Amino acid sequence: AEASDGDEKAAVRAYFNSTGFDRWRKIYGSTDDVNRVQLDIRLGHAQTVEATLRMLRDAGPLAGTTICDAGCGTGSLSIPLAREGAIVLASDISAAMVSEAQQQAEAAFSVEPANSPFQMPKFEVSDLESLNGSFDTVVCLDVLIHYPQEKADDMIAHLASLAKKRLILSFAPKTLYFDFLKRVGELFPGPSKATRAYLHSERDVEEALRKVGWRIRNRGFITTQFYFAKLVEAVPIGSTA
Ligand code: SAM
Repeated sequence: AEASDGDEKAAVRAYFNSTGFDRWRKIYGSTDDVNRVQLDIRLGHAQTVEATLRMLRDAGPLAGTTICDAGCGTGSLSIPLAREGAIVLASDISAAMVSEAQQQAEAAFSVEPANSPFQMPKFEVSDLESLNGSFDTVVCLDVLIHYPQEKADDMIAHLASLAKKRLILSFAPKTLYFDFLKRVGELFPGPSKATRAYLHSERDVEEALRKVGWRIRNRGFITTQFYFAKLVEAVPIGSTA
């Protein structure tokens, strides 16, 4: 049976505080103890982070801009943003992830030159649905994959309500081909399949944004052998910035 929304979130939280934490910290890290698939995912994800940083810098220097990194994981995006002087809220549903991100940020800061614009992020354990505040930009990378579309719609609406200028999202695209791959994958559940993955169609994401008055302005697609992500940059409809 399908888990209810609440159970789903509780399961995701439990996963990213335990086996999921160990697995993803390793994938997002730089140590050699990863297998071929994990290494491929590491490289794909790094490309998503790079593409996001490029999109963010397109609008001008990041120093002083406020950015919410919702579902920050180990800080793969928050830390480079902090290094450029952005004022970052790094939040995640997993306390283990937030603590890891904080440790990594402190380690990164400790090797910065004295004149570095580095702004230590604010770290917060929170599911993104409970976040409040107002930010120039809200970013949410590789989080929607853990939720079905109805849930993702609500998450997108909430994230948009927190953003003044831009919302950047990445998700695993639902196309016939990836849908097929996922179905095949489900026939062979391996030990690493601790949570299930949901794919989202760009049209559904676009529709969820449109309903709350946002439109997609810029898109990217990142793919390696085992990692697939659509990256979209959305702005309020009517915004010319
Ligand atoms: N965004 C980070 C990155 O790209 O490096 C981490 C991506 S990782 C695959 C997914 C992260 O989303 C995990 O750290 C997990 O704890 C977090 N997460 C899952 N559901 C969440 C929710 N409802 N609110 C906030 N964070 C959530």
